[in-house]
Amino acid sequence: MHCGDKIKHETKIAAENALAEAVRKYKRTGRGGKSWKNLNVYQCHTCRFWHLGRSRDNTAVKFNPRAGLAEQPKILSTGELRRKLARLAESWERRDDHVRKQRLAAFKAIIEADKQVQTRDDERRRIQQAKFDEIIDSVRLAAEIVRNLQRPENELPQDDL
Ligand SMILES: [Zn+2]
Repeated sequence: MHCGDKIKHETKIAAENALAEAVRKYKRTGRGGKSWKNLNVYQCHTCRFWHLGRSRDNTAVKFNPRAGLAEQPKILSTGELRRKLARLAESWERRDDHVRKQRLAAFKAIIEADKQVQTRDDERRRIQQAKFDEIIDSVRLAAEIVRNLQRPENELPQDDL
């Protein structure tokens, strides 16, 4: 499916904000009747960005009138990020790419460091707070790397279907 002229949103939240804006506009102008009710956001299989549309893709998220009104871009919790990195690591483990292997090693180190922080005991918690903050910074940086890697120019060539 081609998405050529569709607006690309980097995140689901950005797309939801755009959707909320579009719905407000449709309601205000009355244009398109009630067709806005079928609008949703979905992650595109072609470009990996998020689009507004009427896709029946099963990743589609129905319009939620409360979403996107006051929401700030979300910073992933370390737990979410660890799971995300772990999933990514798992998929990269199956690949044979040198650069990816290096990145994978870096991610694994972060995941491991984060795990150790999780299992530390209460007494050491305060002492290690500074170190923990450092790791959080690394994890945020990793999140940024993940986002950049998900940009289309960094995608691996798709296998021919
Ligand atoms: Zn697309």
